[in-house]
Amino acid sequence: MLVLIANLGSTSFKYRLYRMDEGGQEVLAKGGYERVSDYAAVIDDALATLQKDGVISSAEEIDAVGFKTVLGKDLSGCVIADDVCVKALEDFAAVAPAHNPPYANGIRQFGKSLPHAKLVALFETAFYQWVSEARSIYALPKAWREIGIRRYGFHGASHKFVAERSAELLGRADVAQSTASLYLHGPAPIAGKPLRVVSCHLGGSSSITGIFNGVAIGTSMGFSPQSGLPQNNRVGDLDSGALPYAMKTLGISLEEAERQLTKESGLQGISGISNDIRDIHAAKNQGNADAALALAHLVDSIRHWVGSFAWQMGGIDALVFTAGIGENDYTVRKAVCEGLEEFGLVFDDVRNVACRAVEAELSAPHSKAKIFVIPANEELVLAREVFRKVTHHEIS
Ligand code: ADP
Repeated sequence: MLVLIANLGSTSFKYRLYRMDEGGQEVLAKGGYERVSDYAAVIDDALATLQKDGVISSAEEIDAVGFKTVLGKDLSGCVIADDVCVKALEDFAAVAPAHNPPYANGIRQFGKSLPHAKLVALFETAFYQWVSEARSIYALPKAWREIGIRRYGFHGASHKFVAERSAELLGRADVAQSTASLYLHGPAPIAGKPLRVVSCHLGGSSSITGIFNGVAIGTSMGFSPQSGLPQNNRVGDLDSGALPYAMKTLGISLEEAERQLTKESGLQGISGISNDIRDIHAAKNQGNADAALALAHLVDSIRHWVGSFAWQMGGIDALVFTAGIGENDYTVRKAVCEGLEEFGLVFDDVRNVACRAVEAELSAPHSKAKIFVIPANEELVLAREVFRKVTHHEIS
């Protein structure tokens, strides 16, 4: 089966073509366009390029197209990207303005350019469908809750991949299988010892998810990707009382406050240097106090969320790091794991320093709970979900 993964930004289009089968997958081609103003033109150009390069002989050979959609109103999961899906994206365009309009347009356009292909959307919120209502709501008046203000959670594709892979690494084929088919069948009953994993997706955008028997029980992000950990340019958790106070005291508009909270906050805001953690480490090493504070705040926040989920689950069997910072930044990993021996986590710093962006175990051999790095590959995760959805004959 040929699966095209379409990554649509507000002015960009990137794609990857996979050949998928039960045994595995192969990337056949990848490409992309910047400064896109006409999606129809670039999609047709990409299809023409694939034919010109001999990757496919006709666009009809592409069986399915996968979209990593972010947030839909009243819709989540791994779903057919049909009119209902496009409407759900459009109805929440104001909540995810950078992501929803390009996907709504792109899905429509692929429907026209590849009428025979199955279009599948995997929402970034999909992994949180089984989070309890008690942990999904905010303590708001009913009217606020009725317009859809609640915790949704994001990075679902990445955390679900961590759930599957960590279960495999821990020898829990039962949990790995249940997680693999979660979007088709829902959670399967798991016999025996519960498996408790905390997944740390630490990148330009970061979140932490608690995973019990392969199913998310909660995550640090909420209504929008604007909550939880401090991110490259976004604030993370902020008391709602701060917004009206800052607007009045600094004399700024709501739009300006929003801009500063999304573009000038997070690691950039605290360090005043860069949104890239590598630059912040370099500045800290030269004695910059703001850079040191940014790193300390990030680590504190990660530990806060890891602890919260470990407590909710009654313990932890594996702590997993993924994404740009999680896979590469051994200094942050070490600081996150320091002093947790009482909780069964014994960190091996030699393994840690040796590990850069590869799958690895960072815990000492005698550690009761494991610590892993599991590299993220979001296109592949999406291609697998699309393959599962299509081969499950859910789509005629
Ligand atoms: P995104 O959330 O944008 O998809 P990534 O998961 O690719 O981001 O993570 C990007 C971040 O990872 C960068 O902002 C950078 O801070 C960090 N990063 C990338 N490479 C390294 C590295 N070698 N060492 C430390 N941090 C890194």
